[in-house]
Amino acid sequence: MTLVRISDDALAIACGADAVARAFAEAGCIVERVSSWGMHWFEPLAEIDGMGFGPLAPGDVAAVLAGSSPKALGAIEDHPFIARQQRFTFARAGKTRPLSLEDYAAHGGWHGLERARSIGPEATIDTVTRSGLRGRGGAGFPAGIKWKTVANAPGALKYIVCNADEGDSATFADRMVMEGDPFMLIEGMAIAAHAVGAHRGYVYIRSEYPHAIAKMEAAVALSAELIAPFVLEVRVGAGAYVCGEETSLLNSLEGKRGEVRAKPPLPALEGLFGKPTVVNNVLTLAAVPFILANGAQAYADIGFGHSRGTMPIQLAGNIRHGGLFEIGFGITLGELVQDIGGGTASGRPVRAVQVGGPLGAYHPPSEFHLPFDYESFAAADALIGHAGITVFDDTADMSAQARFAFAFCAAESCGKCTPCRIGAVRGVEVMDRIRSRSGRAADPVEHLPQMRNAAKAPRTLSDEIALIEDLCETMKFGSLCALGGFTPYPVLSALRHFPEDFGAEPQQQVAAE
Ligand code: SF4
Repeated sequence: MTLVRISDDALAIACGADAVARAFAEAGCIVERVSSWGMHWFEPLAEIDGMGFGPLAPGDVAAVLAGSSPKALGAIEDHPFIARQQRFTFARAGKTRPLSLEDYAAHGGWHGLERARSIGPEATIDTVTRSGLRGRGGAGFPAGIKWKTVANAPGALKYIVCNADEGDSATFADRMVMEGDPFMLIEGMAIAAHAVGAHRGYVYIRSEYPHAIAKMEAAVALSAELIAPFVLEVRVGAGAYVCGEETSLLNSLEGKRGEVRAKPPLPALEGLFGKPTVVNNVLTLAAVPFILANGAQAYADIGFGHSRGTMPIQLAGNIRHGGLFEIGFGITLGELVQDIGGGTASGRPVRAVQVGGPLGAYHPPSEFHLPFDYESFAAADALIGHAGITVFDDTADMSAQARFAFAFCAAESCGKCTPCRIGAVRGVEVMDRIRSRSGRAADPVEHLPQMRNAAKAPRTLSDEIALIEDLCETMKFGSLCALGGFTPYPVLSALRHFPEDFGAEPQQQVAAE
């Protein structure tokens, strides 16, 4: 009987994978629901004896089984999108049933935890430190140093918290881990717990991920004995973007309002319920089993500069070949967008790509030489964040995107600090004036003597642009967390690279810089 593998990942299901799976079953095939390969433009993708077919509809099944399908893709492993990757974290993607302990063990699962238990906590932390693994949530802080801080913190009660509040635009790697390889994340958390001496952990998942929540809850129940005495629970967020910020997440986990805490104290010393806590992103923890199983050097050998290992990069937006592409740091932005992503889905020229979610900078093609790593992007006044790349074609209005950044910040602000809470609203207002080209007369408050910096005369466009830049500086350096602090990245990069969308003349472009 023919064995057909089809993903049960949320994206595949949204594309019609359930109906295709039913059609194969009705045709007499054995159907296995597996994780996704991450080639989203081929979903629903079916695999038979290593050969791929997609994107399929139920009506395509007969031709696939007859060997006459025009949707045959050849060997999936040999497809350039897969063959070019360095899959450490996603090594099992497309190959295993997500909730099969048997599949997980047969494909290298639990070796990392066994190794950690055999070498002990100190050597485990040392291995993670030497691997060069940095937090994949965006901050890029060395994971080993964070673990060591928690391990050395006084007290018997410590926690491991997995940040699975994946809220950035163009990101889905966390979701793919949880839906496709949940035991890997559980193993990573169990290793972290063993390393720092924690006995309880929480996976904080955004409510918008019902499939991931269901898979993780089932996987936690199935693996409870294997990770004992470590106890793991799944907790569901309530939809606030700011709960992706670690201290806000901790407040939410404690049942409080999702509001950012001032640091210090660091969560590593006073985190969940005031106890030392490791807070790591899904991808950080998911990378740990590979590192323990294969050694620090195997991970550190890959990468670029101080950015070691691989990064699961997510290609989305107006892109021909969207999906998950895991590779060592150092690949250029242009290779990712043009060679691997195939340019825009619309077929029009790429105008900009936004890297790092809604608060990441916009990059024009003139910056496609940038190597994808933490330091190169920081030097270009940008960030890689959670490695989501959103592509825009030449119909994009970049002043509208700049306005969106302020509007997003205004909607998602936790309200704790003034630069973000008030600044984002003022930013929307100024952007509206810039976009409508309406100008604005000074209001009575601005005529008060103490308002020394306020314009007394109606503002020109260049006054408004200067105001945006001033506001961005205040938000960048005055905000308590990255939500307010990073909002200037998309605004200023759009203004710097696309001044014409703001109505600026060439000389105003120079002034803006
Ligand atoms: S920057 Fe915004 S989200 Fe962050 S603490 Fe301040 S008000 Fe809250």
